[in-house]
Amino acid sequence: MSAVVVFIDQTDVSGGAGDADALSKSNQELLTLARLAGEPVAAVAGEVSDGLAAALGEAGVARVFASNQEELTSYLVAPKADFLAQVATAAGASTVLVGNNSEGKEIAARVGIALDAGVISDAVGLTVADGVLSVQKSVLAGEYTVEASATTAIAVVAVKSNSVHAEPAAAPATAAVEPFTAEFGPASLGARIVERTPKPDTGRPELGDARIVVAGGRGVDGNFGPVEELADVLGAAIGASRAATDAGWIEHSAQVGQTGKTVSPQLYISVGISGAIQQKAGMQTSKVIVAVNKDAESPVFEIADFGIVGDLFEVLPQATAEIRRRRA
Ligand code: FAD
Repeated sequence: MSAVVVFIDQTDVSGGAGDADALSKSNQELLTLARLAGEPVAAVAGEVSDGLAAALGEAGVARVFASNQEELTSYLVAPKADFLAQVATAAGASTVLVGNNSEGKEIAARVGIALDAGVISDAVGLTVADGVLSVQKSVLAGEYTVEASATTAIAVVAVKSNSVHAEPAAAPATAAVEPFTAEFGPASLGARIVERTPKPDTGRPELGDARIVVAGGRGVDGNFGPVEELADVLGAAIGASRAATDAGWIEHSAQVGQTGKTVSPQLYISVGISGAIQQKAGMQTSKVIVAVNKDAESPVFEIADFGIVGDLFEVLPQATAEIRRRRA
């Protein structure tokens, strides 16, 4: 079986955010797909704790290449791409998988150039037939899916989170960790990180991993207070439409949609969002969609399982108060 190298970035986790002993949900999804395409191999930037090695073994990974070199955390993404490309060569990879976030897509492009490999982004699935890897790629804001195959010896694929259900391996492995020293050329060390400002901890779950998301749009008119209160009473993450992030009412990392995050929670509460095609692209696979909008003709009601036509500033506080009352 050919090696499928999955990039696992633990550099943030080593800095204190996240769980150093666990695989994130999106990394579990990448490894689930890697097992479909061949033999999963992990390329870990950062430390591999005993807990992480055990989690990798449960995901069917027997070989782990790990580097904790200072360049991986002190520069922008180029050294991570060098590390991943060099691991792919060392492992004899046929496929390289990365997350489809903005950093992952830049890494994919750089690895593609380094390995002279075809790059496929926005992937939502993989299949292998007669030894040929075929990638399902979401296009036109999720309205269409196309099949794509790399014509090169190696394929680099950036996979959207929440595209597959993460499963543990049917046959767990014992992960052997091999220290790896990557070489970094001067061009890769061209942009050094000079300062880091940690994101304040909101205590809310990660948007991509949350079971419940409450998302606000232009309708909140600059006031995310009612959205935050409902989110907190439900233990939910907060999302937003691009209109809300572009207005500066909430950080860009909260954006859901074609050019933001793809989420697939059990419950997505859409508040003051019209449901444009680019917003739908990031949330339409949610299990249950509840929409609150004062315009009964709003397109969001076409995809909502439950709709409330009303002013969010009246509806949300009532919902929050009622949930609190029932929980008490
Ligand atoms: P609007 O469309 O203005 O809708 C606001 C809604 O709030 C209306 O339906 C209104 O009835 C309702 N409302 C107003 N006041 C209240 C109130 N008091 N109570 C209840 N309801 C109220 N958008 C994204 O979201 N994510 C993306 O990733 C994204 N990517 C894009 C990529 C490209 C290339 C392009 C061209 C666009 C992209 N967009 C994206 C923008 C998208 O087309 C829409 O413009 C955007 O989603 C609109 O945001 P909205 O629904 O919050 O605002």
